[in-house]
Amino acid sequence: MFRSFFSVVLILAVTQPIQSQQTSAPVPPNTLAGFTPQSSQAEREWEQKFNDGIVVNNLRASMQRLSARPHHVGSPYDKDNAQWILSKFQEWGWDAHIETFQVLFPTPKERIVEMLEPTQYRAKLQEPVIAADPTTNQTAEQLPAYNAYSIDGDVTAPLVYVNYGNREDYEQLDRLGVSVKGAIVIARYGEGWRGIKPKVAAEHGAIGCLIYSDPKEDGFFNGKDFPDGGWRPKQGVQRGSVMDTEHPGDPLTPGVGATADAKRLTIKEAKTITKIPVLPISYSDAQPLLSAIAGPVAPETWRGALPITYRIGPGPAKVHLKVAANWDLKTLYDVIATLPGSDFPDQWVLRGNHHDAWVNGADDPISGMVAVLEEARGLGQLHKQGWRPKRTITYCAWDGEEPGLLGSVEWVETHIADLQQHAVAYINSDSNERGFFHASGSHDLEKFINDVARDVRDPEKNMSIWERDHLVRLFKAKTADERAEIRKRTESRIKALGDGSDYTAFLDHAGIPALNIGFDGEEDGDQYHSIYDDFYWYTRFTYGKALAQTGGIAIMRLANADIIPFEYNGEADTIATYVSNLEKILQDKQDQIAEQNLELKEGVFNAISDPRKPLVPPPAETAPLFMNFSALKNGVEQIKSRAQKYEALFDKWQASGRPLTPESLKLLNADLINIQRASLNDKGLPERPWFKNQIYAPGAYTGYGAKPIAAVREYMEEKKWPQADAQVPMVAGVMQQIAAAIQKATEDLQRGMEQ
Ligand SMILES: [Zn+2]
Repeated sequence: MFRSFFSVVLILAVTQPIQSQQTSAPVPPNTLAGFTPQSSQAEREWEQKFNDGIVVNNLRASMQRLSARPHHVGSPYDKDNAQWILSKFQEWGWDAHIETFQVLFPTPKERIVEMLEPTQYRAKLQEPVIAADPTTNQTAEQLPAYNAYSIDGDVTAPLVYVNYGNREDYEQLDRLGVSVKGAIVIARYGEGWRGIKPKVAAEHGAIGCLIYSDPKEDGFFNGKDFPDGGWRPKQGVQRGSVMDTEHPGDPLTPGVGATADAKRLTIKEAKTITKIPVLPISYSDAQPLLSAIAGPVAPETWRGALPITYRIGPGPAKVHLKVAANWDLKTLYDVIATLPGSDFPDQWVLRGNHHDAWVNGADDPISGMVAVLEEARGLGQLHKQGWRPKRTITYCAWDGEEPGLLGSVEWVETHIADLQQHAVAYINSDSNERGFFHASGSHDLEKFINDVARDVRDPEKNMSIWERDHLVRLFKAKTADERAEIRKRTESRIKALGDGSDYTAFLDHAGIPALNIGFDGEEDGDQYHSIYDDFYWYTRFTYGKALAQTGGIAIMRLANADIIPFEYNGEADTIATYVSNLEKILQDKQDQIAEQNLELKEGVFNAISDPRKPLVPPPAETAPLFMNFSALKNGVEQIKSRAQKYEALFDKWQASGRPLTPESLKLLNADLINIQRASLNDKGLPERPWFKNQIYAPGAYTGYGAKPIAAVREYMEEKKWPQADAQVPMVAGVMQQIAAAIQKATEDLQRGMEQ
């Protein structure tokens, strides 16, 4: 459907060039982007009321209630929380309901890690109760530490230490002459998403995988451990999903909603369950195993903070790993709450956070959820005082985020046709800490969220959250060029999104503009996915208020702007950097391979290899092909020039202060809603068809991390040059679609202004 629509627009774009409107009078002061001076003033008055109405004590009370008991998917308190959230939305005047799905969610049945040689050690796999912390003793309801979607397995093999277990670590193992074939690997948490570790291990022939929390990243190296300080104690374990990156959501219903009567794959057919068994352990359980490994000493960057000599193996430590799960379907409870729009009820502005946790989850996710709930209470208050959002606002409390974004993915898949027609944008939050404002997302919302952040006060400093983040960016910048850009650019750059939370289905699958917002950077500890992430541990609420204000104001503005305030000059600029990054990757690879081949010929690797600790030389590689990026560069230029015309006309409209007719607004806003959809290609990424967005995607080997223009970039990173080159025309075509969609909006804005 999109394809035929855009080919018509493309012809229009060529045959009817818009006259550029470069001269614009200044916009009246205090006018919000997308508003007229009049609608702006009304909006600011309501925003002030909203801001003043946020009550910090509500955040604390909601957190105490929601984190009182373990509430993972399928647990009694998960359902209880959903019903409580539902009752709150209803009490605040929202039209709310619970939507359920049936998903595959394995829970542990049997877990064994034992060292058989050279000495014996049985891992405890248990986080001890801490007397001072009143919820740590809820052992009957706690989900034991495990990695969800690990395949069942029972394996015994020598142990190999693989650092973080990323692809580069295995290149280093090759040089050291160590193979993991037939071995069990032990990797530390960190540097990339946990699910990549068993994936890459299996690709290299390992038969089992242990992941432990090293105190270097996650424990006493950073500060006092819990309960004296905030850091992970020695027997603390990070739970988490290891679902494969092929697609998020229920493994048995890819691409469709997991409703009760959905057609399901068998567990054997599911593609996102790991190939080898995997289990997370504490460093207290890891230390005896790591100390029993012999073989080469680990390179310096591979060493953690345990008081041992880190060695690689294989063996002589020999480990028995057994993992078995209950492979049941569990019910998800998504809470969906709506305030109907007065003028444009068919345009939906969405906000969400998940409510499920691995255990009590005070930080992840309740710290974010309580701010989102306080926003909803505040908006409900305004509604009772006569405020009516022009667009429909929908608040979502997702279930099943932790195992694999289950609640949001199944909901988006179920409602995709409606969402693609009606959704304006989705704003997500997850855990919220103390510190500095952060926003990531699609770049059509970059200027918008910068504007919102300029209007929210930092609770601990006498400045806006925007200014504080801006100054911190200057401090953190590594080069003079970076600092110069930060000082020169009006808007702080936002990062692209990977797939770390519930925005993924909206942006990557459905093509809906999305943001993820929150605060962090000044936390005094971490208990991520542990029984210690609870109310007693988490006692910092200051920034909950700032998050509620930021999220609430963002939703109000998106719901009430006359013209939806997407901005495309910044987006064009960012897409241009993605294309120049591709060129740089190619250039760097060519240089690096040429240099390595030369050094091989010169005998450098032979010379540096200590005969007593031999290093294998890297294999000779063929230098990459020259690739032709000109179609992508032309695509970028198209988007740039269309964006400039749209923004110039938009500025002219803002300066005029003249409202458009409701009919013109309806048409124009529908055009704007379609622009992000133009990033979609129905076939999806070449090896991950669920991911339809050709600009934004997570990496198959980074998980949470973003890989813009993944269709081309991932093949390049895998050194599959011809395949990468073959994707260029498809992505260039998507860029033409985006340019044409911006052009269509410009034409309709022009017509609207002429009326
Ligand atoms: Zn979370």
